[in-house]
Amino acid sequence: AKVLVTGANGFISVWICRQLLEAGYAVRGTVRDPPKGDYMVTLFKSFGIGKKFEYVIVKDVASPTAYDAAVQGVDAVVHTASPVGAGGKPQDTINPAVQGTVSILSSSVRFGPTVKRIVVTSSAVSVLEPHDEPYLYTEEDWSESALRTYEEHGDETDGVTVYRVSKVMAERKAWDFMDEHKEAGFDLVTILPTYVWGPLLQDTSKMKAPNASMQVLTSCLVEEKTPEECGPYYSDWVDVRDTALAHVRALQLPAAGGERFLVSGGPFAWQDIYDALVTAEPPIPGIPRGSPGTKRTYGTPCSNEKSQQILGITYKVLSETVVDAIRSLDEKVPTW
Ligand code: NDP
Repeated sequence: AKVLVTGANGFISVWICRQLLEAGYAVRGTVRDPPKGDYMVTLFKSFGIGKKFEYVIVKDVASPTAYDAAVQGVDAVVHTASPVGAGGKPQDTINPAVQGTVSILSSSVRFGPTVKRIVVTSSAVSVLEPHDEPYLYTEEDWSESALRTYEEHGDETDGVTVYRVSKVMAERKAWDFMDEHKEAGFDLVTILPTYVWGPLLQDTSKMKAPNASMQVLTSCLVEEKTPEECGPYYSDWVDVRDTALAHVRALQLPAAGGERFLVSGGPFAWQDIYDALVTAEPPIPGIPRGSPGTKRTYGTPCSNEKSQQILGITYKVLSETVVDAIRSLDEKVPTW
């Protein structure tokens, strides 16, 4: 079987492509420029799994015909391409996110008679909402507050909120599209990762800084947190390899059809990261200690129950993820 993966050269996507190839699928990746595809051809050749990887150029995901050619002859689609930390005007992020999602679905209806399933990478930001009391987010939740902020502030909306708007609008649009296209020969699964960390497989030759989610991890190393900042819940994290596996399983398992899945290794406080990184063997030099023994409170984490039960994911532990992530950054982006 052949799988189309959009935005194939991204941090998460290269791992998805690799795991699909290892599972025996042929993979067609979409990239915006040839060197990004050539890098992957070479990468997978070096793993001895290169023969089944090909790429096509899709320059403008927001064009309604963007994927008309790319979807032809594939059995399934993983749609990951979406702006992350793009800056500029809100529409520069929101439009490619939303219209890109519509394009992949509508191209598949029109030109992908063989497509059986489409997996869309949404985000945990699609469920987040401020809560004063402790709360466990599940796949039943939908974020509304970012949309309200954007309605109020328009072009003045901050970048983080704009990203949240782009993800929640794109995911809603995908489910609405499925409601409106009962004739589609495929079903939909959405994957909602928390902050994704782990080793880098993508082309890092021009990278000066970690990508957006890895910057969250490195922020506490660049500037050690105060004792007060060390203990409170900050957010949730997930390993990039587990995130990729969730996409692969979402394609394979009949029970996943029509479902959303939060994927999360667990909640974290900054002290958890300090404690995890000092367990590295051999040690990683220059790791701050934080405030060892500080009390942790995890207010509003994301549930990973459903992904464990239906997708069968056994999540990596924090120490494996963060140690592998920082070692990989040190090796591949030494300037970070
Ligand atoms: P990357 O920035 O590494 O990858 C993003 C991919 O999308 C790249 O291939 C990029 O292409 C492509 N892309 C971005 N903007 C556009 C655009 N306007 N038109 C066409 N392609 C575009 O990010 P990640 O791997 O971290 O993210 C992948 C997906 O996962 C995204 O949908 C993101 O929202 C989602 N996600 C990520 C999380 C994380 O913590 N990393 C958490 C939750 C969700 P190019 O290289 O050419 O720019």
